[in-house]
Amino acid sequence: MRYLSTRGGVDPITFSQAVMMGLATDGGLLLPELFPQVDEQTLRRWSGLPFNELAVEVMHPFMGEDISRDTLSALVERAYAGFSHPEVTPVVKLGEQYILELFHGPTAAFKDVALQFLGNLFELLLERSDGHLNILGATSGDTGSAAIYGVRGQRRIDIFILHPHNRVSPIQERQMTTVLDENVHNIAIEGTFDDGQRIVKALFNDLEFKRAYNLGAVNSINWARILAQVVYYFYAWSRVSGGDTRRKLTFSVPTGNFGDIFAGYVALRMGLPIERLVLATNRNDILSRFVNSGVYQAREVHHTISPSMDIQISSNFERYLYYLMDQRTDKVRELMERMGREGQITIPGEKLAEVTALFHAEAVSEEETLEQIAASYREHGYILDPHTAVGVRAASRFPGAVCLATAHPAKFGEAVERAIGCEASPPPSLQGLLERETRCQILAADVGVIKRYMQSKLDGQYE
Ligand SMILES: *Cc1c(COP(=O)(O)O)cnc(C)c1O
Repeated sequence: MRYLSTRGGVDPITFSQAVMMGLATDGGLLLPELFPQVDEQTLRRWSGLPFNELAVEVMHPFMGEDISRDTLSALVERAYAGFSHPEVTPVVKLGEQYILELFHGPTAAFKDVALQFLGNLFELLLERSDGHLNILGATSGDTGSAAIYGVRGQRRIDIFILHPHNRVSPIQERQMTTVLDENVHNIAIEGTFDDGQRIVKALFNDLEFKRAYNLGAVNSINWARILAQVVYYFYAWSRVSGGDTRRKLTFSVPTGNFGDIFAGYVALRMGLPIERLVLATNRNDILSRFVNSGVYQAREVHHTISPSMDIQISSNFERYLYYLMDQRTDKVRELMERMGREGQITIPGEKLAEVTALFHAEAVSEEETLEQIAASYREHGYILDPHTAVGVRAASRFPGAVCLATAHPAKFGEAVERAIGCEASPPPSLQGLLERETRCQILAADVGVIKRYMQSKLDGQYE
């Protein structure tokens, strides 16, 4: 299997190269040259498999010669050993709908499914190339901890995560700073999340520094993250349909960067019987406006009770655009350049019809989100986190829909308490966090300061 860029400026590369490249060097996003096809007989055969075995079946065809089945098997075992549920991503029935619980990983959010896999994959590829990678990222709370847990203790990776000092929730802060492994470097900057992002961007643009220290990112543009997320669409389908290939399912996905829902699109293109994808956003509705009007236009970001979806420009949207434009890289490049210049693009009417044939999109307000948490609790005794509640609400017109549960409700206690008057009891991974030892460096929100700190930590390794 070879990988190409959505903008056509990268010679075909292997799976391993695509994983290490992250963002394509021409500014586009990497995609496989084709989707492996899964026929009905195979779907039936897969439908009884445990999660880890299914993961190998789904992912291996994307890797070509790069990674053997046995190696992948071991990688998958290691990635999901830290999940607290034997099924990894179990499905529960909630009235007429299904909930696909993606929050049984070490940080209690769905990003663990991809980042536990990616961390182990990085380590394997670095082992082969005898390399070392320094991951750098800024977080407003959630992604940082999942990235840290994905690579903690890996010998060939150091990770530097910037978070705004005293501006993330106590649980989120402790999830990061209680990880004491040598290779984990938490930095609390005296500034905002935007300052953190600005610093990270400046360091990635410092090409000499970037090359000398082999800087990498773990944001949702990495193809391996999408790939790991494709697995649970197959898993949920097999559990709900029991392998009956006439059963087409609707999936509802709370969406920010279009990563999770794009994984559903990949599953569909591989042949999974999917009827519809419900794209659920909060007030930050660039994607739902796109599906409902054909206009992709960023507006200002609003802070909501589902903060992991407080996003305006969706970093994975370009991948979908590539297929919508019939894989014409010149078109994609032109549209993305126009987006950069004019802040908006519009797709032609016949293309919009294609979008709406598959996607149903809804923007869910805060009141509706809280109402949904209350209603699910009242009717089924089940507590939804605010992100999941957005998806469940948007799917209310689709009985039988599978709603992706992207975070454990105990992570968002304040919103849950507002909705139902009490908090959800925390899973083991969130218990006792406040009593544990922490390590964190507080630094000025200054590019030079952060750069020197990183150098001081790393220079021993580069002598
Ligand atoms: C990241 C995140 C999302 C959004 O996922 P995307 O892949 O960015 O669409 C939704 N819910 C939670 C809890 C998240 O952490």
